[in-house]
Amino acid sequence: MSKKMVFSFKEGDGRNKHLLGGKGANLCEMTQIGLNVPPGFVISTEACLAYLDSDSDELPAGLMDEVREQMKAVEEATGKGFGDPENPLLVSVRSGSAMSMPGMMDTILNLGLNDRTLQGEIRQTGDERFGYDSYRRFIQLFGKVALGIDDELFDEEFNKVKESAHVTEDVGLSADDLKEISQRFLKVVEQATGKPFPEDPYEQLEIAVKAVFRSWMGKRAVDYRREFNITPDMANGTAVNVCTMVFGNRGNDSATGVAFTRNPATGENKLYGEYLVNAQGEDVVAGIRTPKPIDRLADEMPRMAREIEELRQKLEAHYHEVQDFEFTIERGTLYCLQTRNGKMNATAMVRTSVEMEREGLIDRRQALLRIKPEDLEQMLYPRLDPNARVTPLAQGLPASPGAASGHVVFDADRAEAEGRKGRDVILLREETKPEDIHGFFASRGILTSRGGKTSHAAVVARGMGKPCVAGAEGIHVDVMLREALVGDTVIREGDLITIDGTSGKVYLGRVPTVEADFSAELNILLGWADEAARLTVMANADTAVDADRALKYGARGIGLCRTERMFNAVERLPVVIEMIMAETAEHRRQALDKLLPMQRQDFQELFEVMAPHPVTIRLLDPPIHEFLPSEEQLRDDLQYLYRLKESVRGMEVLAGTMSLLGEAGSLPEQPVDSHQVEEAIIKKETMLKKVRALYETNPMLGHRGVRLGITFPEIYEMQIRAVLEAAMACDRKGLEVHPKIKVPQVCTAQELLFVKGIVDRVSAELEAELGHRLCFQFGTMIEVVRACMRADSLAEEAAFFSFGTNDLTQATFSFSREDAENKFLPLYNERGILQNNPFDVLDEKGVGKLMQLAVRWGREKRPDLLVGICGEHGGHPASIHFCHRIGLDYVSCSAPRIPVARLAAAHAALCEDC
Ligand code: PEP
Ligand code: MG
Repeated sequence: MSKKMVFSFKEGDGRNKHLLGGKGANLCEMTQIGLNVPPGFVISTEACLAYLDSDSDELPAGLMDEVREQMKAVEEATGKGFGDPENPLLVSVRSGSAMSMPGMMDTILNLGLNDRTLQGEIRQTGDERFGYDSYRRFIQLFGKVALGIDDELFDEEFNKVKESAHVTEDVGLSADDLKEISQRFLKVVEQATGKPFPEDPYEQLEIAVKAVFRSWMGKRAVDYRREFNITPDMANGTAVNVCTMVFGNRGNDSATGVAFTRNPATGENKLYGEYLVNAQGEDVVAGIRTPKPIDRLADEMPRMAREIEELRQKLEAHYHEVQDFEFTIERGTLYCLQTRNGKMNATAMVRTSVEMEREGLIDRRQALLRIKPEDLEQMLYPRLDPNARVTPLAQGLPASPGAASGHVVFDADRAEAEGRKGRDVILLREETKPEDIHGFFASRGILTSRGGKTSHAAVVARGMGKPCVAGAEGIHVDVMLREALVGDTVIREGDLITIDGTSGKVYLGRVPTVEADFSAELNILLGWADEAARLTVMANADTAVDADRALKYGARGIGLCRTERMFNAVERLPVVIEMIMAETAEHRRQALDKLLPMQRQDFQELFEVMAPHPVTIRLLDPPIHEFLPSEEQLRDDLQYLYRLKESVRGMEVLAGTMSLLGEAGSLPEQPVDSHQVEEAIIKKETMLKKVRALYETNPMLGHRGVRLGITFPEIYEMQIRAVLEAAMACDRKGLEVHPKIKVPQVCTAQELLFVKGIVDRVSAELEAELGHRLCFQFGTMIEVVRACMRADSLAEEAAFFSFGTNDLTQATFSFSREDAENKFLPLYNERGILQNNPFDVLDEKGVGKLMQLAVRWGREKRPDLLVGICGEHGGHPASIHFCHRIGLDYVSCSAPRIPVARLAAAHAALCEDC
């Protein structure tokens, strides 16, 4: 017997999303838990794949027979007949894959209508206007979705009738107007396809099913899957849901709406949504009429409001998750048409996690696992500076929080093109449609002049964590003229604006922003994460200000302080240059003596901020020529100085001549004399010589890291002294500090031994003065391949290893970290030669293997060896999972990634065996 392809809502397995799609499985589940779902059935994703795999345009054999059988059951349940001219059964046809892909596939409503059934529908409802309204909607949707006819052809006819009827709102159209529109639409179809509109309902259904199946491979769906990495094991093919139509446009006791069981922007435990009286579902989603907030339903239809509240409770109690559901009220009966897990922004996810745990709906593990770590970064997004004195230009609905500034673009293609150039853009549309999705990816924020908080723009922007202001009705968009009018103000394409998705306000120009705050709920959630995690999360921070921020985000120490950043400060650079220019060790020491108190001060501040957490200081790493001007710059400066010297000389000669003429004093005094210029020239020439002497073909593989420390030991000695003296000063103040000194670019234990010799000498000196031992550790960066291979012998000298995976990736692939990302890596990714950018996502198979070996060999020699990572990968969730698996003790990353890393570390621990 061949495999069953069609399942009624009463029999489908609600857990089998792969087979029935998310929506279909839910319809089955909702039906089976006793919610009022209109009768219907689901055609499986397997049928979709079989259709797409076959060479013909025929549906799989036997599928339509199963459909007819199921349709009979629906006819029995509703007492109506599919194609029955007396009492016609109308259905909706919707797509739905295993993963929620909002707006990606197309829906057809009112299928089953034709010239004859329409009359039956009119007789049954006694409402001619309603009948023709349903018909014209069906013809347009079917024409667009199933027959591929351009929407605009229908819109043109629609607007013509609207104009001649002198109405502005669709509700103002009479039955005759709608009849006229239906007839015009039938002609549009006939002209576009060369065939009359299909009359037979089963033929309509067959065409519609095929169209839904094909939409799985449509551009929108394919783009969406690629962007969100939806692989075939996650979702393969779309199911088709065929469901009895219920009508929200049957008069003032009917309505339609969409709602979330909790607020998807804030997480507040309160029904959130919108509805329209006497309207169909698509009116809400498409933003054609601006809907009313759901709170108002209690006044307009109190019994329905109570039933929806009950529905909300039932949904959450069953799904243990916030639900995003669609409902229709037909003549005082509430139907639930769809439910799915609500897409929320990070703020709402965090709040609902904490609150649902408290309400006993979910446990802590679920509370942590339902949030994607990388989404937490959204919560650190900037918001408008409350002190900015600005007047909004327009007001819309706060549809997705956060603030963004950018140059206005009026269509998605332009947004994509400008975004590719690296420009910040805001996509401004009357309303958005699924085909605009590529514009969303490229934009900093979305602004629409129509539609509500559940319009397409709002839902998609929220899912992406991008700010969105929707329904700013004061803005009149003219795409043809590429401008928008707000009162007398014209916004032209390219103009800079700022949108605030938290307040719904729109501003001209760029408004300053401030950093976001940590919410109390985020702190609670991350506290749970820390309890669950085994990895400790530390920060890459170079200054006390960075450290303070990292601490606020929950860092348990500093895993990497790059000391060269301190050398670059304006007041220090001249001293650093003096140190580099020194020709003798003695001169170098004099310059270093000036740097010592500065570095000591830096370290002391860091220790004080982080106490009692550890602070890991890396000794100087980059090639020292990086602190000097470039050769080109010096040559330009010299050219200028040579010219200046000539001019100054000329002026001096002129001044002398004037005195001979007895005209002394008539020339203004010279601001510089030729000796000063001469001195400046000598300095620059000496520097140029030094720069040329320091020149290296491959500086990243050259005189840097510990190699510098060995050739100029006085530099490392100054830094080591500064660290230990700062620790001593803290110790004297009674502060518990744990400095760690690490050496960069080490490839042999001999290098470590050399530096350790300095550390031992300096610490012995200071400890003698202090009278007791200083508490500090000495360790090494592991960032070259040989260091991994010699991990056992390095572990004899080092108390800790810190993987510098930026350099280790460079060294393992032999890809320059400076150039690979903008030269060939994008092409490598595009062609599938490499799946990811290895500088972003840790290459587990190569770099990871080396790390694994180094951890094993290092711990064999020193079982209590502490091991961490401080390359960029330390803040990447998948890489953090890997670090957990190979037994690292900590990850260290930049401040804004710390919350992400804390949650990822918890996920890694919680998912150890899942
Ligand atoms: C590394 O190489 O991973 C590292 C942390 O050092 P840097 O990026 O400073 O070279
Ligand atoms: Mg490095």
